[in-house]
Parts: sequence; C-alpha cells; structure tokens
Amino acid sequence: MEHPSQPTDIAREALKWLSQRKLPPTPDNYRRAYAEVSGEEVKAAPWPEAIRSLLSQWDIRHVGLSQKKKKEMVERVLINFGNQPNELHEKITALVRSWSESPESRKVLEGEEGEVPAEAAEAEEERAATTEVAAPAGRPLAELGRAFADNVELFIGGCEVLWPDLAQRARSLVAEVEAAQWQLAERHIADLGHLWREFIVRAEDNVELLEGLKRVVALLFRNVGDMFADDPWVQNQVTAIHAMVGGQLNYYSLFDAERTLEEVVNRQKALQDNLREAKSRLKGLISTFVDRVGELTDATGEQQDRIQGYADRIAAADDLAELNEVMEGLTAEMGRMRDQMRQTHGELLDARRQVEQADERIHELERELQEVANLVREDQLTGALNRRGMEEAMARELARAERMAAPLSLALLDIDHFKKINDSYGHQAGDQALVHLSKVTRQLLRPSDSLGRWGGEEFLIMLPNTDLAEAEKVMQRLQRELTKTFFLHDNQRILITFSAGVAQRQAGEERDLWIRRADQAMYQAKAKGRNRVERG
Ligand code: GH3
Ligand code: MG
Ligand code: MG
Repeated sequence: MEHPSQPTDIAREALKWLSQRKLPPTPDNYRRAYAEVSGEEVKAAPWPEAIRSLLSQWDIRHVGLSQKKKKEMVERVLINFGNQPNELHEKITALVRSWSESPESRKVLEGEEGEVPAEAAEAEEERAATTEVAAPAGRPLAELGRAFADNVELFIGGCEVLWPDLAQRARSLVAEVEAAQWQLAERHIADLGHLWREFIVRAEDNVELLEGLKRVVALLFRNVGDMFADDPWVQNQVTAIHAMVGGQLNYYSLFDAERTLEEVVNRQKALQDNLREAKSRLKGLISTFVDRVGELTDATGEQQDRIQGYADRIAAADDLAELNEVMEGLTAEMGRMRDQMRQTHGELLDARRQVEQADERIHELERELQEVANLVREDQLTGALNRRGMEEAMARELARAERMAAPLSLALLDIDHFKKINDSYGHQAGDQALVHLSKVTRQLLRPSDSLGRWGGEEFLIMLPNTDLAEAEKVMQRLQRELTKTFFLHDNQRILITFSAGVAQRQAGEERDLWIRRADQAMYQAKAKGRNRVERG
C-alpha cells in the first residue's frame, strides 16, 4: 500500500479508513487510523510502567478510597476503554495518578505504608455500611471528625456542578463539625445520611434524564441520517454516534458524541448550502424553461394556467422530491404541448407557405401590371398619347430636331372652367368633352405632330419643324375650330374653350425647362382672361 505523505491527505484518508470500518472517530481510533494510513508504526503504550504504578498505588490506603472502590473505578475504565489500548493506558495512568495525588493528610487511616490486607479493609467497609460509625478504640474523636469532614468534602466535589444546593448543605455540615472542634455527633452522621439519600434520589432522576437525552440524541441522529441518506460520510458519523449513545453513556462518550455532532452539523450546513444553491439554480433553469415555453407556444388559456401552476409550485417547492414531481408533470405537459406545437408548427408552416405563395403571386402580378403599363403608350379615354408615350415622342423629336437643326415647338393647353362642365353635365359628359377635344385636335394637326394627355384636362401638343409663330397659329386655329365643332351632350351644344402657352425649344434647352416655359405661358393666358394663346 502506498502511503500519502502530506498531512492533509493523511488526515482525509484516515477519516475514510474510519468510515469504511464504521469506527467512531475517537482520538484513539483516529490515532490508529492515522498511523495505519501514514505507514507509521503505532507506538505501543508503555504498559509496564502503568501496571507498576497501579500495583504500588493499589495497596496504599487512600482516604475515601477503599480497594473495593478502586476496583470499581478500574473496572469502569476497562468497560469504557477496554478495546482502545492507547486510550486505556491513558485513563488508567490518569486514574492511578488521581489516587496518588490525594493529600498526605488523607493518605492513611491505619499506618504509613498501608499494610492492612485487602480482605481486612473490605470487611471493615462492610461493617461501616451496616453499623453506626463510632470512634475506633484508641483513636481521638477529633481525628474521626476530620475524617468525616474529608468524606463530606468528597461529597461536595461530587455534587457541586449538578446540585449546588446539596453541596452548600454539605459545606454547612463541615462548618458545623469544625465549629464543634471536630467532635463528631450523632446528628452529624444523620445529616450526612439525609444528604446521601437525597443525592441517590436525584442521581436516579439524573439517570432518567440521561436516558431521555440519549433517546433525543438517537432520534436526532436518525433524522439527520434520513436527511442525508445519500452521503456516506454523514451516514458513517451517524452510525458512530448511534453506537456511542447506544452504549454506556459517560462524559467521554458524550464529549465524542458532541464533537462528531458538531462535525456532522457543519457538514450538514455545507451540504444544505450546496443543495440550496443547486435547487435555486434548478428553479432558475426551470423558470426560464417555463418562460421560454410560454413565449414560444401560442398555448391555450388552459395550458397557460397549468404552466403558471407549475411555476407557482416551483417557487414554493422546498425539497428535491417535490421539484422532481413538478418536473415530471411539466415534462408530461411539455410532451402534450410538443405534439400540439408540432401540429401548430405544421399549420404555421403551411400558412407561411401559402402566404409566401400569395406574396410571390402578388409580386408576379405587380410585375405583369408594370410590364403591361410599360407597353401602354396611349391614354385609354381619349386615344391621345399618355404621359409615358408623350415623353418617348418628345425624346425622339428632340433628337431629330437637334440632328436636323429644325425648329421644334410645343403647346400646353388647359380647358377653361372644366369643373363647370363636370358640375353642370356630370363627370361622364366631362369625359366625353375630353374625347371631343382630342378628336378635333387630331383632325386639325399634321401627322408628324403629337398629341398627349399630360394631366386631367391638360394636353401637350408637340409640333416638329414648327417655330413659335406657327405654333401660336396652330393653337389659334384649334380655338376657332372648336367654336365651329361643338361638343354635343344630350343634343346640347357645349362650347369648349382652352387657354394655351406655346414655346419653341431653344438650342440645347433641357426638356423640362422647355415644358415649364410653355406652362408659364399657359397660366398667363388664364390670367389674361382665358380662351387665349400666349407665347412662352
Ligand atoms: P381653369 O379654367 O382655371 O382651368 O378651371 P378648371 O375648372 O378647368 O379648373 P382646373 O383645371 O383646376 O380643374 C380641372 C378639373 O378637371 C378638375 C377635375 O375634376 C376635372 N378632371 C380632370 N380629369 C378629368 C377626367 O378625366 N374626366 C373628367 N370628367 N373630369 C376631369
Ligand atoms: Mg387644369
Ligand atoms: Mg382647366
């Protein structure tokens, strides 16, 4: 076996060694474990010396310590520490030392060297128990009084901690004997008898108290053990304490039990902290999970309520078992939701596919419409060019005019008070008025001229190879023509007049600037009273 060299490693391994053997962690066991783990030799206790001093102190008569009493003491130590050699050695040595440290004055009742054989001493003790104490022959009464006081002192020491009132009464008794110049009286003996009887009654109560304490401690440890059923270290400590309190209860085992209990409590606290942290982390995870699920699914109200129920239970959960139960419920719920989500997801995908298809179709239609619109160069109502057709015609004529260095003019005309026609005869009549104007104009113009509908009741007329004066004349001719060719609506003659602005394109002039000049001239015509042609 390889032995660890670091003290902390040895200590840890020693604890493991103890728990594997289910040994209580008493100092002696721990020493053994430590030596075992570290590979050191367990030092044998120096027994010969201990036995020698035991033998020498055995025969010496100590005040208040008969050989029977000594035997009882040694037996008690043997019972408690018989299977722990080092501990036993320590206790025996301490016990023998306690005998020898008795004050000199108490040392002997009969002779310096205590030559009285053990049998004789026991016989004397028997007598003392059954007969009334009386001054032995040849002994001064005062000496007996002092011996009596020494015994009472021992009694005081024995009950000082537990029953200070009894100790106080015993102290008064000593004071009384002392006040009587150590002349022991019958009543002193009787008083001591009363004190002893009370002591015994209380001690019996105390034993019951200790038994009760043992039961409480055992119960406590069973609970601690149950709580940490999965922690072998705690389990081992609990087993050790059970063994301790289950056996004979004395100060040493109580001390060991207390120390082990303290370790268990500390370990328990650390475990609880970890557990609390783990639980809160778990709670956090589950809560996030629940939140996510809540966000992700379009669950029904009923499902939302159930999930909220789980969230509440998680918040209130106190132990892992309960959390586990919640998790199981939640997992089942998730299963149901997942199925539903799958279905919903499928439906959503379908819907999305349909929407995408619809979107695609819309885009297609828009494109087609745009293409169709791009093909159309004519105004549907009047048959004149639409704006796009007119722009193309203008571009063509502009290029040609530049190329040929030919004059190029345009006229912009706007029907006068067109609203009135609409208002008086209706919108359709207005439309027909537009159709009428277009027809008359086209009939009047040359084939190379272009007529375009520029806006609602605004028309553009492009006149290639035409200068400004000629353009003006064309427009005036048109005005005259309209006075001859009436627009007929419900057999009613309706006169259509217009105001126009004419402009000849200047060399290198921008198209829009050219149009704007014509437009401004048109407005001048309006401003000057309408039914006029102005030059721009
Ligand atoms: P002005 O002499 O100042 O030009 O008076 P106006 O009434 O002609 O006034 P304006 O030019 O501001 O109004 C034009 C009207 O022409 C407005 C609109 O209702 C009408 N209009 C425009 N396009 C059409 C169309 O295609 N059909 C019909 N029926 N009416 C149209
Ligand atoms: Mg107008
Ligand atoms: Mg108008």
